[in-house]
Amino acid sequence: MDIPFLPGYPPIQPGPLARFLPPLEEGSISRALEIYGESGDFILDPFGSSPRLVVEAAQAGRAVLVAVNNPITRFVLQHTIQPFTLTELQTALARLAAAPKDGSRLEPFILDLYRTECVRCGASVIAESFIWDRDSEGLTHKIYVCDRCNHAGEGTTTVEDWERASLHSRRGLQHAFALEQVAPSGDPDRRHAETALSVYPGRTLYALITVLNKLEQLTLPERLKAAGYALLLSASDTVNALWGYPEGRSRPRQLSASPRYREDNVWWALERAVGTWAMEDPRVELVEWREDEPPRPGTVAVFPGPVRDLVPTLRDREVRFLLTVLPRPNQAFWTLSALWAAWLWGRAAAAPIKVALRRRRYDWAWHAAALRTVMAGLKPILNPEVSIMTFIPEAEPGFMAAALIGFDSAGYRLEGRALRLDESQAILSWSMADRLKYPRSPGETQQRMASAAIGALRERGEPGPFSLLHAAAWCEMARKRLLADLWALEDSHLLTTLSETFETALADREIFMRLGQYVEPESGLYWLADPSEANPPLVDRVEMHVLEILRQKAELSQVEIEEWVCQMLPGLLTPDRRLIQACVHSYAIQDPTESHWRLRVEDEPESREEDCQEIHHLLGELGDRLGFTVQDEEFLNWFNEKGEVVYSFKVMETTAIGPGIEEGSEMPLTYVLPGGRASLVAEKMRRDPRLREWLQERGGVIKFRLVRRLVTEAGLNQENLAERLKIDPPEHHDPQLPLL
Ligand SMILES: [Zn+2]
Repeated sequence: MDIPFLPGYPPIQPGPLARFLPPLEEGSISRALEIYGESGDFILDPFGSSPRLVVEAAQAGRAVLVAVNNPITRFVLQHTIQPFTLTELQTALARLAAAPKDGSRLEPFILDLYRTECVRCGASVIAESFIWDRDSEGLTHKIYVCDRCNHAGEGTTTVEDWERASLHSRRGLQHAFALEQVAPSGDPDRRHAETALSVYPGRTLYALITVLNKLEQLTLPERLKAAGYALLLSASDTVNALWGYPEGRSRPRQLSASPRYREDNVWWALERAVGTWAMEDPRVELVEWREDEPPRPGTVAVFPGPVRDLVPTLRDREVRFLLTVLPRPNQAFWTLSALWAAWLWGRAAAAPIKVALRRRRYDWAWHAAALRTVMAGLKPILNPEVSIMTFIPEAEPGFMAAALIGFDSAGYRLEGRALRLDESQAILSWSMADRLKYPRSPGETQQRMASAAIGALRERGEPGPFSLLHAAAWCEMARKRLLADLWALEDSHLLTTLSETFETALADREIFMRLGQYVEPESGLYWLADPSEANPPLVDRVEMHVLEILRQKAELSQVEIEEWVCQMLPGLLTPDRRLIQACVHSYAIQDPTESHWRLRVEDEPESREEDCQEIHHLLGELGDRLGFTVQDEEFLNWFNEKGEVVYSFKVMETTAIGPGIEEGSEMPLTYVLPGGRASLVAEKMRRDPRLREWLQERGGVIKFRLVRRLVTEAGLNQENLAERLKIDPPEHHDPQLPLL
């Protein structure tokens, strides 16, 4: 069931509405399609939630059919495939800027809405943003650059600023238009539309609708008008009150104003949007879906509606490859999509998603049911041999549970899984399956979940978070096709019931230990009360695989290294990026262009071997010189006159300290490591409280260079040795000279 995780890299240019679209890493779809299926395959994406997935699939030579019901996502997809040129975007903005408005032009008219005075010299300036504070019930600061006195940054707002902001009340023409466009009077959703509009400050709404109306009045060629819509769309996203100040929620899910937010200058938001939409041409073709004309390889056919309406236009058993990013419920994005679509293209365009206005909350049981409905509806068009790959870029436990339960109860069997815990990214693969029937009792469920969780901890050989154990338990249930039956019995409470069963299993202190004091089951780390059957720690295996590949190949990119390690450690073992990076930094250096890594010269096997032998030898000599009896075996043991071991050293090239910490030996053990390993040891200690405790209480780490130094110290003796061993701890990069 374990498949390799397919790492990509964070996109260099995140693209439009990136804060709402799934954070799928660049390149992971391309990589998936190098491994699964072949060029020319026909691929269906039933959810159409990620433009990146669709583009990369087409670039990989696939014929892609995607159903996109949300007109906003569809617009982004369309203009990711056929991006505007910089000139088109600039021209659209310039035409808007120059459009006549109240005896002036539109640009100065909008900018003037943000006019204020410099707090230092009193000059009239245009503010970049105003900061609103819910507790002060108004704006508290302004951000601007003053051309006269060069003051740049924040300033306190004045009564005049308050007055100017309140000029644009919620009762003006622009506000009425913004509302009417979404839900005219008499529409049952009108009050929901009103609530949604409230995330826009009055002046912002006034400015946006003024620009929109101007865009409608201009006679522009279709492309330029669409470019204008694109700019307005991004501006409408960035200027609402969802985004906190100074930092705030990076990926909001609920439509509510942040306690402190920025009211950004709408005109400058439009200007910034030019860079967002000027994307690189992906060189794939876009067509509309036509029943009698399946897309050709390298082409994307878009079906502008829900996938249930697409199904009747496809032949039975036609689809052999289903590839998608599972959508995540996002009340904020879905509601705003309904607003934006209505503003830009009218009520009819927004109709398919207008229902989003009404719903305030989406829980995971709702989502499981939604996924079940869609996936069950697809069955007639799927070939019995179909491959199904689903990417979940924000795989928190609730989302994983909803996906597993939704697919299982729609009649699919979990075939593969990979989960990257720290990045919360999962890949699940599925096949069509017949339902299995087993009679079972709740006791069995608990035991089954517990043993899957135990298995995951043993496999990893180190403490793990709740999300790991949760994924192990739920995947096991899905793999055995047990969730569907349970859902049939328990109906909508299954998620709650199963979560409780699972938490009861985890609370068994004879099986699971909690590291640290936590109340919530989701916090902290879990470990096994009896770790005797556990593997060596995952961190040590990651280090070994990184070193292995660095010694095999002269030059490697970060992604190549990650790919290799993820292949060696698949499924729930998938190591996170930070750990891999810590290993890479410990053994390799980057070339000047920062594109490739190569092994450090001193970590070549021969030179490192020599190094280790030299240190081992020096330690032996040092022990002799200080009057200990030295025994040279796996460890270098130093005995005193009474025949007791007082020091025990182990010289190693890696930081694979892990196995030592579960062993019951009472003997203090000092690991002797190359200095380049220091930050890797620190990273391992950060991750594993057992290692931290062990190193602090019973063991220690010293660097090679300390041994070399101690050998030359004339005043060293048995009495001061313990102190001298501490003078250059691993975290020191620049040790002080010993005070004589
Ligand atoms: Zn000034």
